[in-house]
Amino acid sequence: MKRRNLIKYLTVAPIAGAAVASGVPFQALAAAPAARVKRDFIKELGLRTFINASGTLTTHSATLMSDEVKEAIMSSSRQFVMINEVQDKVGAKIAEICHAEAAMVTAGCWSALVLGTAGALTGADKTKIAALPDVSKFDKNEVIVQKGHAISYFHALLNTGIIPVEVETVADLEKAISPKTALMFFLNTAKGNGKIMHQEWLAVAKKHNIPTIIDIAAEVPPVENLWKFNEMGFDLVCLSGGKAIRGPQSAGILMGKKNLIAAARLNGPPSGGNIGRGMKVNKEEMFGMYAALDRYVHLDFEKEIKAWDAQTAVIVNTVSKFKGVTTKYETPEGTNHTPHLYVYLDSSVKMTTKELITNLRNGTPAIEPRGVNPDGGLIISMINIQPGEEKEVANRLREELSKVTTLS
Ligand SMILES: *Cc1c(COP(=O)(O)O)cnc(C)c1O
Repeated sequence: MKRRNLIKYLTVAPIAGAAVASGVPFQALAAAPAARVKRDFIKELGLRTFINASGTLTTHSATLMSDEVKEAIMSSSRQFVMINEVQDKVGAKIAEICHAEAAMVTAGCWSALVLGTAGALTGADKTKIAALPDVSKFDKNEVIVQKGHAISYFHALLNTGIIPVEVETVADLEKAISPKTALMFFLNTAKGNGKIMHQEWLAVAKKHNIPTIIDIAAEVPPVENLWKFNEMGFDLVCLSGGKAIRGPQSAGILMGKKNLIAAARLNGPPSGGNIGRGMKVNKEEMFGMYAALDRYVHLDFEKEIKAWDAQTAVIVNTVSKFKGVTTKYETPEGTNHTPHLYVYLDSSVKMTTKELITNLRNGTPAIEPRGVNPDGGLIISMINIQPGEEKEVANRLREELSKVTTLS
């Protein structure tokens, strides 16, 4: 290409491309080449959006990052810094907030579980770090777990190659502990499915000098859970950043004992040649995670709850006017400890809860409810219903109920 033509090409091509992509007439852009067109990517790609009444489900994109988080991401996106230095500084701030010795930002709670386990297995031993997930030559390669806790999330630990040892009673636990025990895992959301509770679990671990790890991914709120398990004595605590805390969906926190956090970091990025290299967290998300936590511990929870109560009242006032329709408003204990509204249709209503869900999903605006409660109720989780959306939820329910029952 001749130089003159090349210059012409460089000047024109990108602008023409942008004009085509955004559908803006070429002349409009040519007249003001500095102005950038704001694009709505969700709309551009034709994605279905919805009112999220499902809570913080991973499949439903879990949360909307708070403004503080978006600001942290944007403000940290303009300069270069060393990733390990960000992790040091942000980790220290997070540790302070959560009353832990040390902390790191991970690629979600799942990755905190993997890296925490890896760290407990390898310590700072480079040969061991390079060997994972082959732990066959490790002195300590077993992880003890209660049978009721060895569900789905436990798979995170299996990534490291550990050999799981399942127990049910304290007697089982005492018998299972051996020189091969590397770690003891506790899944907080499954505490009701196990026979051994936290204190007892920790007491046995301390007696035998075995490190402990706990998964509390979706168990904030209450905010106190951010420090409760560190203070209780768990050596490693794993948390999701992108659920109720409203950090980046792909961020999480691993916190606990200094030496274990240091070892966990050696098993992940930015170092390579380890099992965690793929669990990358960019600097923006590290700052985003910190901003989310900082916002969260300063939140006025009373105010939050009052706002949810007011939104719920709008829906309740609408649906309870219909014959055969009742409601219950509750905040479940443990996981998803935020307000939920349950709507019940009795047999006089000629629509099942499942059909109602399908209609809400396919209607306009689309609404994604949590699902059907074991007691038959339609579950509406309030946490992700944005201000004003409660009116649309109430409207859609009114439309659907009008088809199958009458006002009482
Ligand atoms: C969501 C969740 C995870 C996974 O956390 P991510 O942050 O999505 O990686 C692990 N354990 C439990 C109990 C969870 O609820």
